[in-house]
Amino acid sequence: MFNLLKQVGDYAKGTFQAAKYIGQGLAVTFDHMSRRPVTVQYPYEKLIPSERYRGRIHFEFDKCIACEVCVRVCPINLPVVDWVFDKQSKKKKLDHYSIDFGVCIFCGNCVEYCPTNCLSMTEEYELAAYDRHELNYDNVALSRLPYKVTQDPAVTPLREFAYLPAGVVDPHDLPAGSQRAGRHPQDLVAELKAQPATSPSGPETPEAPNNKE
Ligand code: SF4
Ligand code: SF4
Repeated sequence: MFNLLKQVGDYAKGTFQAAKYIGQGLAVTFDHMSRRPVTVQYPYEKLIPSERYRGRIHFEFDKCIACEVCVRVCPINLPVVDWVFDKQSKKKKLDHYSIDFGVCIFCGNCVEYCPTNCLSMTEEYELAAYDRHELNYDNVALSRLPYKVTQDPAVTPLREFAYLPAGVVDPHDLPAGSQRAGRHPQDLVAELKAQPATSPSGPETPEAPNNKE
């Protein structure tokens, strides 16, 4: 008799626990049902990458002086600079340039230190390939103009969270001309420059970063 009562008690306890967990799961479901959708219907819709997004590197062959600074500052000595010495001009002449994006960590050091600014980071992030050797871009592939989400007629560009007005999480159906929450870097730089250089109550205003964009 005592065993039977214990079994019934355990069964009831298990039933209550199961009902409690189902209730907790449904509470999460109902909570999400009242939220606005933030799904991006990729590849028909794409988020606009951030202004300083570090994507595929763009290379301008004619500007390169084959100095190999990009190789020395690269943490893995990745760029391959193939040059020959031109006896007539007594200068290095670039023959071939390549970067393997299967190995690159997109740190941007090469772009930062290149003395002729022939390297730049683009917002292109779709680099998937079936063969990893296809990710080794030569100077022709690197010279291809960067892909822009906002210029693709087959894609609906959506604003990222940083570009949405304050409190808005859904980038769909935004009214035209709606203001973004964050300010543009160039606006912040202009504001810093407009401030007086010294303040009577505090230290000097910090120098605004050099905005190349
Ligand atoms: S640092 Fe710039 S100029 Fe020098 S080899 Fe690299 S890409 Fe060319
Ligand atoms: S982005 Fe970084 S890892 Fe990639 S090539 Fe440039 S320096 Fe090397």
